[in-house]
Amino acid sequence: MNFKDSISYAEKEDQEDQLSHFRQKFFYPKDSLDKKIIYFCGNSLGLQPKSVPELIKNELELWGEKGVLGQHIRWVDFHERLAKPSANIVGAKPSEVVIMNALTVNIHLLLVSFYHPQKKRFKVIIEKDAFPSDQYAIESQISFHGYNKEEALVEIAPRDGRKVLDEKDILDAIELHGDSIALIYLGGVNYYTGQVFDMESITSLGKKHGATIGFNLAHCAGNIELELHDWGVDFASWCTYKYLCAGPGSPAGVFIHEDHHDWKGPRFAGWWGHDKNTRFKMPAKFSPIKTAEGWQISNAPIMGMIPLMASLELYEKAGMENIRNKGIRLTGYLEFLIKIDLPEVSIITPNNKGSQLSISIKKGRQVFDRLIEEGLICDWREPDVIRLAPHPLFNTFQEVFNTVKLIRDVLNE
Ligand SMILES: *Cc1c(COP(=O)(O)O)cnc(C)c1O
Repeated sequence: MNFKDSISYAEKEDQEDQLSHFRQKFFYPKDSLDKKIIYFCGNSLGLQPKSVPELIKNELELWGEKGVLGQHIRWVDFHERLAKPSANIVGAKPSEVVIMNALTVNIHLLLVSFYHPQKKRFKVIIEKDAFPSDQYAIESQISFHGYNKEEALVEIAPRDGRKVLDEKDILDAIELHGDSIALIYLGGVNYYTGQVFDMESITSLGKKHGATIGFNLAHCAGNIELELHDWGVDFASWCTYKYLCAGPGSPAGVFIHEDHHDWKGPRFAGWWGHDKNTRFKMPAKFSPIKTAEGWQISNAPIMGMIPLMASLELYEKAGMENIRNKGIRLTGYLEFLIKIDLPEVSIITPNNKGSQLSISIKKGRQVFDRLIEEGLICDWREPDVIRLAPHPLFNTFQEVFNTVKLIRDVLNE
């Protein structure tokens, strides 16, 4: 990419950016008197779409004016509106996607269906140092089934001295453990390093060996392009408050491949997963909806879903391909400037990445605290990593430029 280290170049990029007008659709954190805020934390909590308060007010009014009648007018099938735009983001059919619960809760529910270890096939392949919630969920499921971690858990670690996994090691582990693998469960993008895994190859090799494949897409959804249906992924879940800007604790997304929709295996059932035609007849026997919705347990949290509806509308308008292309350029520009202007900083994130760069700096914590004081909102991970995540819908090339200059100034202090 033909980047240049100058503010005039960054301005030109912003002028030519087809997505630049989306920035004004979000509440951007306010500058203080002497400091401009740069928000590079879209990978942690995306910003609030400006349409959210009005949309929430409408639902509150409906509730106030009509009480339970609002249920019949709007809420009973409210969550269904979120399926199609969410499916577009993860490369699925609308019937393969449902919005429900929170991410880790969904991981457990999905594991109830998709991890049932048998005598011969019982192992789970994960990344070592996966996001703690993945680690805890998988380990607790393994012991719930009466196995122990030492025999059932295969953790793939970076090679000596490296910070990121060699993908070949994942593929080699699949070959090595072969038909003893019950489940391969990975983050599509590693939260710490920003590394993007080749989900298609992993899925294809795993399936060849008869394993079930699931992904945690917390750092993928709204960030990189996905083709879950075509890749043949069995199941996935993602939170919506990170890149997807649906607000703190917003309900999560679930993907279940249509191959599984006529599911006869184990599942934790609830009335909201029951056939819609007879749900309100309250029959004793559970008869599941034959889509991803069959895994729903409770009725939908309408107020919590509204910000997601607002942000999905923006994602639909912008288009995932455009968002991804801008993400590549923004993050690429950040990397380009860091390499030129900050030679003492090392970049951990490999070439396969989304909109995030993880950098490691000596005395990183001191530097990070100063950056926050100076208005750069980014994120700190022990022991020495700062994550910078420019968001394609609300960040600019000039902010990337100014960020690198700010880090330069702080390092010079
Ligand atoms: C953010 C994140 C979570 C968060 O889990 P919640 O259940 O939403 O609290 C889980 N896993 C990964 C990989 C994450 O990045």
